[in-house]
Amino acid sequence: MATNGYESGLKMIEELTTNAEQIQDEVLREILSRNAGTECLRGFLSQTDKQLFKKNVPIVTYEDLRPYIDKIVNGETSDILLAEPITGFFLSSGTSGGQPKLMPVTAQVAKKWELFRCLSESPVIKHFHDINQASKRMELMFARPEIETPSGLKAASVSTSKYNGSKFRTLLPKLYTSPIETIFCPNPNHGLYCQLLFGLIQRDEVVKVGSLFASTVLRGIKFLENHWQELCYDIKTGRLSDWITDSGFRNSASLIMKPNPEQADLIENICNCKSWERIIRKLWPEARYICCICTGIIRQYTTELEFYCRGLPLVSAVYACSEAICGINLEPLCKPSDVSYTFLPDMAYFEFLPVKNEPDGSIEMKSNDEDTELVDLVNVKAGQCYELVVTTCAGLYRYKVGDVLMVSGFYNNAPQFQFVERKNVILSVDQEKTSETDLFKAVTEAKALLDPLGFILTEYTSYVDTSSAPGHYVLFWEIKGKEGKHCKELDPKIMVECCSRMEESLHYTYKIYRKRNIVGALEIRVVKQGSFEALIDYCVSKGTSLSQYKKPSCIKSEEALKILDSRVIGKYFSPKSPL
Ligand code: AMP
Repeated sequence: MATNGYESGLKMIEELTTNAEQIQDEVLREILSRNAGTECLRGFLSQTDKQLFKKNVPIVTYEDLRPYIDKIVNGETSDILLAEPITGFFLSSGTSGGQPKLMPVTAQVAKKWELFRCLSESPVIKHFHDINQASKRMELMFARPEIETPSGLKAASVSTSKYNGSKFRTLLPKLYTSPIETIFCPNPNHGLYCQLLFGLIQRDEVVKVGSLFASTVLRGIKFLENHWQELCYDIKTGRLSDWITDSGFRNSASLIMKPNPEQADLIENICNCKSWERIIRKLWPEARYICCICTGIIRQYTTELEFYCRGLPLVSAVYACSEAICGINLEPLCKPSDVSYTFLPDMAYFEFLPVKNEPDGSIEMKSNDEDTELVDLVNVKAGQCYELVVTTCAGLYRYKVGDVLMVSGFYNNAPQFQFVERKNVILSVDQEKTSETDLFKAVTEAKALLDPLGFILTEYTSYVDTSSAPGHYVLFWEIKGKEGKHCKELDPKIMVECCSRMEESLHYTYKIYRKRNIVGALEIRVVKQGSFEALIDYCVSKGTSLSQYKKPSCIKSEEALKILDSRVIGKYFSPKSPL
């Protein structure tokens, strides 16, 4: 969107949010009138009536939809699920089950995404006026390989589909610092090196630094910490390092690189300073903001990111998923902890399953969805938490996305939501998501190695350690020896094997991310006897009722972490990637 085009985007947002109720009804009517005859809906629906839809169509998850998707993937016509022809699939990053999900894509879906991207940029451009002839975006972007399904239809992540689009490819050289080859590089470290190099070479033109998620920006900064000398050497000599062998990279580099010792010296001086606080501002002096999603589970990275980006706002612009496009941030300047997404009523038909907010801040999911009435978009209540349910033009009918959101207010007649949490996800370094059940299964597999040796795993919990790059999963294990054995007698090799066994037992997405070094080696920290009791004492001292105390599968509080960390008696790492 051109700078002067943002006003039409803002105008459209006004219209959409003002007429939210009427637009939602129209969206549902259109979806039902097109698809009521499909195999998936036929048994539940004969008309397009909203009340009949709400009464008869069940709330589903991906598992309910999978038989239809599998049939289409294997070559059956897509009209069993939706009337509009499918042009491909979006591949989700993999949620609690760990397996990436396939979501149908149609021409209408592609159009909606295009509109959504334009609308989401409008408030950002209004604030930062970031695009003109002489300005660029240094965005770290990584495509994932497309998968060809047996039906011949391709599956790609939402972002990869964007990078494949002709519009993006046309705008790329004008608006971004990264050449296309670096985005599609199979080796993410090569891609990252080159994207940082190109970003540094064009540093005086960069007005926006970012990536899709905050975790990737942080990864970029940490990579820079380890490679700035080499990057400066390349800038000084005007030659790309020899280990980058990709001919596409080398060609793009030869077009833009020429020896520039002055620039290299400037960058070297900046990177050589003791503290890297405000480093983004120093390296990219014209940058006005950092654009990346900082809400939800990604919030764990913001404190660290704020240190490097001090002086520049962190902007979380969108909330969307492979299943549905949802909301945009109308206040780009607000703090990550306060970000709300205003839902756009023309993107899907949205319903909300109420969830109970507990006084201690936790939320309790209603156990029986059938007994709970779903609330329409315009009828949600401020302060209340809901699980998102969507009906889309891509064949999802009353589909539970798995995200919990809290209503923070309204913009015109459209509600605004804060992202609360991904249902059941407890660990995530990047876009891989590990649930309590995934973790439990992996621990069960690994602890089986201890039993025959006369040791029992009595307690465990976990957290994501992001103090080093890449972040990694840490498990705290309290182990008891049978028959007077002390856990110090445990052979360290067995503990290393437990780490490996856990990684092998985790889901596919974890293994892929681990293989690509986006997630670091899993670590087990063995703690002294009684450590988990000390944790209970701490929680009770903070007001938790002892009878209601549930050992957390994942530690979120710094204090609780300190309690366990101060009792560690052994640290073990997985020696190799599970794939
Ligand atoms: P995927 O389908 O792989 O793109 O993952 C989508 C999921 O990422 C959503 O269902 C959310 O759990 C999470 N997500 C997307 N946008 C945001 C956001 N702005 N804040 C927090 N989590 C988000």
